Amino acid sequence: MNPGLQNWLSDEIDKLKEQHLYKVPRILESPAGGRVRMDGREVVNMSSNNYLGLANHPKVAQAARDAVEKWGVGAGAVRWIGGTMSIHQELEDRLAKFKSVEAVLVFTSGFTANSGCIPAVLADQDVVISDELNHASIIDGVRLSPAKYKKSEGFVYGHKDMGHLEDILSKAQGFSKRMVITDGVFSMDGDIAPLPEIVALAEKYDAFVMVDDAHASGVLGRNGAGTTSHFDLYGRVDIQLGTLSKALGVVGGYIAGSAVLKDWLINRGRPYLFSTAHPPMVAAALIAALDVMENDPEPMRKLWDNTRRWKEMLAANGFDTMGSETPITPVYFGREELAQTAEKMLFEEGVYALAIAFPTVARGKARIRTMPSADHTEEDLNDALKAFVKVRDRLAVGVAPG
Ligand SMILES: *Cc1c(COP(=O)(O)O)cnc(C)c1O
Repeated sequence: MNPGLQNWLSDEIDKLKEQHLYKVPRILESPAGGRVRMDGREVVNMSSNNYLGLANHPKVAQAARDAVEKWGVGAGAVRWIGGTMSIHQELEDRLAKFKSVEAVLVFTSGFTANSGCIPAVLADQDVVISDELNHASIIDGVRLSPAKYKKSEGFVYGHKDMGHLEDILSKAQGFSKRMVITDGVFSMDGDIAPLPEIVALAEKYDAFVMVDDAHASGVLGRNGAGTTSHFDLYGRVDIQLGTLSKALGVVGGYIAGSAVLKDWLINRGRPYLFSTAHPPMVAAALIAALDVMENDPEPMRKLWDNTRRWKEMLAANGFDTMGSETPITPVYFGREELAQTAEKMLFEEGVYALAIAFPTVARGKARIRTMPSADHTEEDLNDALKAFVKVRDRLAVGVAPG
C-alpha cells in the first residue's frame, strides 16, 4: 500500500465529514417498493425513482426469468464485437416507436448515454450552452467534449432564464455548431424545462437541442414518452436522452433521434464501443415494462393521483414544495443542519427521504426530497405526512421560505 495515496484518501474523507458531505448508503433489505425494509426497520420509501412500480412488477420480473432460460445471463461482449443479440435490437425498435423517432441506441445507463453521446456529436469549433442546474452526467459528458462550454466563458445560462439563453445564442454565431442542453425535468426541484421556448430560440439561432428526460421518462407525455411528447415538439428536438433505470424500473439509458445519429453513435459513442452490452434479461424486462406502459394506463394515473394528493397534503399543512410540477417534490427546510436533522428524525418516524443540501443545491435552500410513486397507498402517504408534521413541530421551525 502506498502511504501517499492511503493518507490522502483518509484526509479527504475527514474533510467531507467536517463539511457534512460524507455519505453512507442505508441497507435496503426488500424490493424497491413504496414501503420497504431498510436498516432493519419498516419505512415508507419516499426516495425511489421507481415511479410506476415497474422495478418489481410481476410481468416485468417474469420476462427477466424467461429470458434467463432462453439466453443465459450475459451478453458476452461489446455489441459490435460479439454480435448484437436480437433482443437488444427488439428493445431499440420498441423504444423508437414509443418515442416516435427514427432510431434509438441503448447504452448501459443514462449516465453513459450522456458521456457517450455528448462528446461524440461535438467538435472543437462547437459550443455547448447549458442550464446551470443540469445533471452531473450532462456536465461530465460536456467536459469530455472538445467544444467550448465553460461557465467562466459565459456559456451557462441561469436556470430556465430564456433571456440569458438568447443573449448567449446571439453571441455564439461564430461557432460551427451550437448545442443547447437541458434536463427535461430538473432532478432536485421537480420543475419542467421551458422546452417550447428553448426549441424556438434554438431554431432562431441555428442551434440544436439535446434534452435529458431521465425524470420525464414514464412520467410526462403520451404513455410517459417524455417532454418532447408532453409539449408536442415531435421532430424539433434533435437528441433526446431517456433512462431505463428510473420509471422503467430496470437499468440503462438511450439516445433517441435520427437514423444517422444512431449510426454515428454506433461508430463514435465510446461507452457503446468499449463496454459490454446489458444482460439479455435486462432487455427482455424492459420490453415487458414498455408493454405495461403502453397498455395499462393505471400505473401512470396512480403516479399522478399520488403526486397531486401528496402536494395537496403538504400544502394544507403549511409545507412549501418549492414550485415542483412533477412527482419530484422537495419539502423546504432552509438551513442545511435543519434538513439533515429532519432526515434522521423522519427515519426514526418510519419515513425514508433524503436531505438535499449545499453544494447540490444553493446554500440556505436545503430540502427533503420526496418522490411519491404508483406503489404508494393512501396509508403510506398519510403515514409519511404525519411523520413530516411531527418532525417539523419537534424541530419547532417554520418551513415557509423567508
Ligand atoms: C438519473 C439521471 C441520469 C442517469 O441515469 P441512470 O440511468 O441512472 O444512469 C441522467 N440524467 C439525469 C437528469 C438523471 O436524473
